[in-house]
Amino acid sequence: MLFPSLFPFLVSGALASVTSHVARDPLDSQRTATELRPQLSPQTTIVFPSDLEWDPLTARGSSPRIDPGYSVIVEPATEQDVRTVVIYAHKYNVPFLVVSGSHGSTKTLNKMKGGIQINLRKLNNATVDPSGNTATIGGGALMVEAAKALFAKGKQAVTGICECVSVIGPLLGGGHSLLQNQYGFASDNLVSARVVLANGTLVDASNTKNTDLFWALRGAGHNFGVVTSFQVKAYDVHTWTVYQFQFKQDKLEQLYTLVNQVDNLATRPSKLFITGVFARIDAIDAANATLIYTVSFEGPKSEAEQYAAPFKALNPFGLTETENVPMDEYYILSGNDINSGVCRKDHNLAFAGTSLPKWDLPTLREAYVAFNKVVRDPKFATSAFLLENYGNKAVSQVDPASTAVTAEERTLPILTTAAVWYEGNDPKTHLQATTAVNNIRDILFRGSKSPKHTYVNYATGDEPLPQLYGQDQARLAKLKALKKVYDPKNEFGFYSPLV
Ligand SMILES: Cc1cc2nc3c(=O)[nH]c(=O)nc-3n(C[C@H](O)[C@H](O)[C@H](O)COP(=O)(O)OP(=O)(O)OC[C@H]3O[C@@H](n4cnc5c(N)ncnc54)[C@H](O)[C@@H]3O)c2cc1C
Repeated sequence: MLFPSLFPFLVSGALASVTSHVARDPLDSQRTATELRPQLSPQTTIVFPSDLEWDPLTARGSSPRIDPGYSVIVEPATEQDVRTVVIYAHKYNVPFLVVSGSHGSTKTLNKMKGGIQINLRKLNNATVDPSGNTATIGGGALMVEAAKALFAKGKQAVTGICECVSVIGPLLGGGHSLLQNQYGFASDNLVSARVVLANGTLVDASNTKNTDLFWALRGAGHNFGVVTSFQVKAYDVHTWTVYQFQFKQDKLEQLYTLVNQVDNLATRPSKLFITGVFARIDAIDAANATLIYTVSFEGPKSEAEQYAAPFKALNPFGLTETENVPMDEYYILSGNDINSGVCRKDHNLAFAGTSLPKWDLPTLREAYVAFNKVVRDPKFATSAFLLENYGNKAVSQVDPASTAVTAEERTLPILTTAAVWYEGNDPKTHLQATTAVNNIRDILFRGSKSPKHTYVNYATGDEPLPQLYGQDQARLAKLKALKKVYDPKNEFGFYSPLV
């Protein structure tokens, strides 16, 4: 047993010096728990592999293919508890991994072995601040929790699109959103964050405090600390008009020629959101994936209709039009709600993010054919090919130097990937799935004139650093220098690591 004096709580607001480090067998979970328990608040739970809660807490969106190894799970109930665990892990060289929405899927997560899962799901509060212009959100809050809390006050924040993903996970890598065309990436809307650093120091980061950390958090944030809570800008909610089109594969070239035309910074209205999916729908055509296209407009149908008209002119075989969709129902309508297929766990999601300047029709067709071969295989039948043109209007108006989000992320309008879902834990099937998504990525990159770029939150874990963190060497050097200051032992090194 250790005495409290061995768990110094470092001074808030400044980087504290690092004390001695005693190596501890990372698998000695009982000892870890015995030592930690007296330091933690009563509401904090410690979970062992033999506990019933173990399986649900270790299931991920992409498990078992992505399966970080833990010896114990701690669910801190307070910010101070987060510090306690981090200080302990830092002192005894025990690896740890922060988990919020558990949808991270880069294979670098598999490098975590025998450490502590710091599960932040108890820090899931979300409130609109008294001014109404900002909201404060817990580091473990899911998008659905934040969206519901804000919606109840007539507000919304720039978050990811799936209800089951955390708010902070996407934000730390940039944060693509339904609202990015109007308000910028999620990270562009970050006002401040409370961060537990690798040595347990709790700091505030904002435009006035720890500004270099604040810069790094917005784009490379998974590498720098545990965000326990954060403040983001809040906006008034409005209703949406949503058009969901279905086309047969012979319309692929016409459809994506139109998408290239519509996604024009000069003419595309900021309230227009467009995105596509290829998916196998057996009731329509089991042999050829259907082209699904969604055109959404924040506003009434009378204004939206002009943007839907060119898509209607392509003669879709299916069309659903829905007016006056409130924010909290948008995600159900679009199939991104917490009970939807995209939110399932233990289904081995594999994807390989590809950012593109425009749709190159020959390689898009080639990628479609390759995807078709994948989904004809029954074990991959529920996969989807995501073709996202969320809109870069507000995103491109932010100075790329002002955050760690790369210039590439702000200028390349297309975010695409095949998302392959399948069950089981057969190594051959894992290889088949990852080979398939990588092949589709490589086909698409062949049609691009830009240097290869992958959104850090859509990484496979194989990408060279400049592909994730930008071709600008000065930016990368700055990130690495900050890493040495804030996390010299690379304790936050399992998710798209900088070093
Ligand atoms: C179904 C699905 C939908 C998605 N939709 C979007 C989208 O709309 N927009 C978008 O930009 N991306 C999206 N993504 C990608 C998403 O950004 C990443 O998968 C992200 O890592 C998920 O975060 P999480 O908290 O859910 O997962 P986790 O696995 O819990 O977290 C991922 C990593 O984030 C870090 N982390 C988590 N919480 C904290 C914290 N509080 N402090 C510090 N670090 C932390 C840890 O390093 C952790 O390994 C989606 C992914 C999936 C699977």
